[in-house]
Amino acid sequence: MVKVICPKCGASVVEVDGAFKLFDENRCTELPGTKWFGDHGITYCPALSDAAPSDWMLLPPGYRSQVEADIAKAKAEGGK
Ligand SMILES: [Zn+2]
Repeated sequence: MVKVICPKCGASVVEVDGAFKLFDENRCTELPGTKWFGDHGITYCPALSDAAPSDWMLLPPGYRSQVEADIAKAKAEGGK
């Protein structure tokens, strides 16, 4: 079992037998306000993805720029 904690928000992900389980995802400070923060918690946290082993593929290739753009947009809208 490997556990990785997001350096930004403290959400964590645990890998058990090839499956990922997220914990404390409601602590995520990046994703609320984006579509990546849903009923089932966070989908892709870029900081958590960075902290995880590169072969975990928490953030599928091609999605990262979209997630980061949505985060920037949510922050810009929330900062009014
Ligand atoms: Zn995070």
